[in-house]
Amino acid sequence: MSLADLPPLRDVIDTHELRAKKALGQNFLLDLNLTGKIARQAGDLTQCDVLEIGPGPGGLTRALLVEGARKVVAIERDPRCLPALAEISAAAPGRLTVLQGDALAINPAQHLTAPIRIVANLPYNVGTELLVRWLTPQEWPPFWQSLTLMFQKEVAERIVAKPGSKAYGRLAILAQWRCDARIAMHLPPQAFTPAPKVSSAVVHLTRLEQPRYPAEARVLSDIVARAFNQRRKMLRASLRGLTPDLEDVLTSVGISPTQRAEEIGLEQFCALARAVRG
Ligand code: SAM
Repeated sequence: MSLADLPPLRDVIDTHELRAKKALGQNFLLDLNLTGKIARQAGDLTQCDVLEIGPGPGGLTRALLVEGARKVVAIERDPRCLPALAEISAAAPGRLTVLQGDALAINPAQHLTAPIRIVANLPYNVGTELLVRWLTPQEWPPFWQSLTLMFQKEVAERIVAKPGSKAYGRLAILAQWRCDARIAMHLPPQAFTPAPKVSSAVVHLTRLEQPRYPAEARVLSDIVARAFNQRRKMLRASLRGLTPDLEDVLTSVGISPTQRAEEIGLEQFCALARAVRG
């Protein structure tokens, strides 16, 4: 059987009795036109291996294979999904490896060859944690070229947010410091089965080979965490204890001690990280 001959996803769900479990964040995409569109947001897959988290019954997995991914490595926690995924594997011999378990605990590196793209309709309960891990590896550039990920709309907005907005914070800075980040698609709740309460969006992040502005990752991350933990306070209060000469350091990089975290752009946060370090 080829990929095109696989049964409709609704039949797959019935056959394998894949009733969605809320605890696993299971909101499935059953429309293969839609999964195709999401897979295409990841760019040209033909020369890439793809890491997918949470393939479920395999709608996005099929699309990634149809779009020509060299190989897909998919990590799925729910063992009930394995027989459905085995059917896809049989229809695309040698191109799909399924690893069963928790994506937060499995290191798929040995199964993947660069260049690697990550594409996923993420389980919402672990999505942000995975994103933060992918954005904060020990060394940059990371093992992946791009991330194409489904999030709740509010989380997607936090990733691409600019200074001065409510959504702007640690996630925006982590993402935009070393990636180009944009919202690629919006999806209404009805796109999923069952429909979640919230709207969703696909975010596409492409890694930069070098950070946008120089800074030490650990120092930048510490400053940003402190600044946004008390985002309504002035920086002279929220960053108290960061460095003994705080007000002078802030002023030296063009930040007023009375400004608040959400007014400070990425470039200034990086300048502050360099100044604190020196
Ligand atoms: N990709 C499928 C789709 O688009 O229809 C399913 C997406 S559903 C939102 C999330 C999937 O992630 C489910 O199949 C769920 O079982 C799986 N999952 C939940 N937690 C996981 C974890 N910690 N590690 C790996 N997979 C997980």
